[in-house]
Amino acid sequence: MDFTFDLSEDQLALRTTLREFAEAEIAPHAGEWDRTSAFPAATIRKLGELGVMGLPFPEEHGGVGAGTLPFAVALEELARVDSSVAITVAASVSLGGAPVLQFGTDDQKQRWLVPLARGETIGAFASTEPGMGSDVQGLSTTARQDGPDWLINGTKAYITNAGTELSSFVTTTAITGERSPGKPEISTFIVPIDAPGFAPQRPYAKMGWHASDTRELAYQDCRVPADALLGERGAGARVFLATLDGGRIGVAAMGVGLAQGCLDHSVRWANERCAFGQPIARYQAVSFELADLKTRIDAARALVYRAAAHKDARRSVTEEAAAAKLMASELAVHAANVAMQVHGGYGYMEESAIPRFYRDAKILTIGEGTSEILKLVIARQMGLSV
Ligand SMILES: Cc1cc2nc3c(=O)[nH]c(=O)nc-3n(C[C@H](O)[C@H](O)[C@H](O)COP(=O)(O)OP(=O)(O)OC[C@H]3O[C@@H](n4cnc5c(N)ncnc54)[C@H](O)[C@@H]3O)c2cc1C
Repeated sequence: MDFTFDLSEDQLALRTTLREFAEAEIAPHAGEWDRTSAFPAATIRKLGELGVMGLPFPEEHGGVGAGTLPFAVALEELARVDSSVAITVAASVSLGGAPVLQFGTDDQKQRWLVPLARGETIGAFASTEPGMGSDVQGLSTTARQDGPDWLINGTKAYITNAGTELSSFVTTTAITGERSPGKPEISTFIVPIDAPGFAPQRPYAKMGWHASDTRELAYQDCRVPADALLGERGAGARVFLATLDGGRIGVAAMGVGLAQGCLDHSVRWANERCAFGQPIARYQAVSFELADLKTRIDAARALVYRAAAHKDARRSVTEEAAAAKLMASELAVHAANVAMQVHGGYGYMEESAIPRFYRDAKILTIGEGTSEILKLVIARQMGLSV
């Protein structure tokens, strides 16, 4: 067992490339994208050219074949600068592409995964509805067979990546029957963006992630062909849970990255800003807070890399991914709070990056499993009968 926690040469080179890209191509624009809620399509395309959208996917499916750990490193570097870009990449790869890789037919992989892995398109996953999020069995969207096709009816809420110029498909969960009395049979469908009867609504006005696309989706007799079914009929819950396990590692990496961004801004500021005749870093109230934050970031990063390494070793990651996301997302909220306190009044000004970090952090404790649901998952893995 390796306890050095060293990244390989290739992984370190990837980190350097992504840090330089993020500093040069994202950081100067992130504030403006945030203010105008502009979706950064050109930047996503460039990340595609760098191979980021294909990092965990095999070369035969348009990817780079690098694995989950390098992808986590890439997400960290993106979120260190801008969470909207990071979640666009994370959702496309982990929620859009990953279930197609794991459960799709060769034809589905060729049609949907290859362009996504090359960064030419992005994908989305729609589970949440206006009436349910955590309780994934409580959905009301339905799909019924109509000749050789399926007709989907319902509404999905808060869906990432479904309404942009790059969006190509939305993997959608729906009830296709009854598994046993009172228990729905859930299946998953790949719904093309241009499917008849499918209508992404106007983007939501959100607290943060302003440059990420989030919409309600309407399905009204939305017609998809028989080969839109992803995995077997009735395998919806399995597809969903496997997708979430992977997705949580990505969100956890984003939490570490956001916290690191807060720390880097704060260290710079603490050394420069003077109060009572000396840099505020000289006050232990400030420097100890930042030392504590660094220690917690290192611990959260170790949990993220453990979960990613387990996934790359094809081990079950249900508990590891939940633990990493729980710790990293709560840490991100704490880090944004610390950064604002250390920056004083300037941290409250939109011209600094800190309010954006502050607004972007909170959703990490909600999306892809709230902190409470993650504790439920971990407790069950521990054998507790919750
Ligand atoms: C910006 C954004 C982007 C999103 N992107 C997507 C996406 O791309 N695809 C998608 O499908 N969804 C997406 N979501 C939805 C997100 O995954 C859900 O909001 C989340 O899963 C929580 O569901 P909910 O909002 O229905 O909250 P609820 O499930 O109603 O939970 C409300 C509160 O009750 C608590 N709670 C619920 N059940 C329990 C329990 N059993 N024990 C203890 N506490 C409990 C929760 O922890 C929470 O605090 C997105 C949401 C946002 C805000």
